Amino acid sequence: MKIEIDLPLCEGHAQCEIIAPDYFEVRDDGLAYLLKDTVEPGDVDLLNSVVQRCPTAAIRLRSTEADPQ
Ligand code: SF4
Repeated sequence: MKIEIDLPLCEGHAQCEIIAPDYFEVRDDGLAYLLKDTVEPGDVDLLNSVVQRCPTAAIRLRSTEADPQ
């Protein structure tokens, strides 16, 4: 599963970084950047929580062919 940030929607609220600091970093330009873009198998619930908590719905998870069914 891959993570995508729609940067034009990001307003730098940093909920993503607070919840999942291993994946997201809000930089000096006030935008969130991915530290890694592939969801570790044990982190699916964590990343779903990030998706739900982003105030501007800027984060999406995208299934990949490598994901277990
Ligand atoms: S929670 Fe959403 S709006 Fe806030 S920094 Fe992360 S991606 Fe941007």
